Amino acid sequence: MKDCVFCKIIKGEIPCHKVYEDDYVLSFLDITPRTEGHTLVIPKKHYENFFELPDKEIKNYFKGVKRTAELLKTKLNAKGMNILNNNGEIAGQFVFHLHFHLLPKYEKGKELWPKQEYKGSLEDTMKKLKS
Ligand code: 5GP
Ligand code: ZN
Repeated sequence: MKDCVFCKIIKGEIPCHKVYEDDYVLSFLDITPRTEGHTLVIPKKHYENFFELPDKEIKNYFKGVKRTAELLKTKLNAKGMNILNNNGEIAGQFVFHLHFHLLPKYEKGKELWPKQEYKGSLEDTMKKLKS
């Protein structure tokens, strides 16, 4: 998709902080993270949303989601994680290339989707992920 920002990330036309990659998915830090390690997992093929994902792609996509979640939990020492997906403008989808949000959680009592952005540096998060 020519004008899709996430397709441009896959093609390397827009940089990203890569967390995980295999033949089917790419995972990278969200540019406006809500918690440390907030990551997006996208299929390498362009599907607008979850409803467009063909059944035959489900296994490969969710394998990538799980691998990414495991990596984040271990490396960042998260206590838990919210895994979210917005479908359609009315549901808060802004980028129309399927993505699941992985939000590592570290302390009790925090909202599902924190109103405040996480202000730490993405480079510091990447150092922990690569350690
Ligand atoms: P949505 O509301 O569509 O579920 O979420 C889209 C997410 O994509 C937002 O959290 C936003 O911060 C993130 N995002 C939008 N453009 C870019 C980008 O160019 N790079 C990265 N890393 N994240 C982006
Ligand atoms: Zn796309």
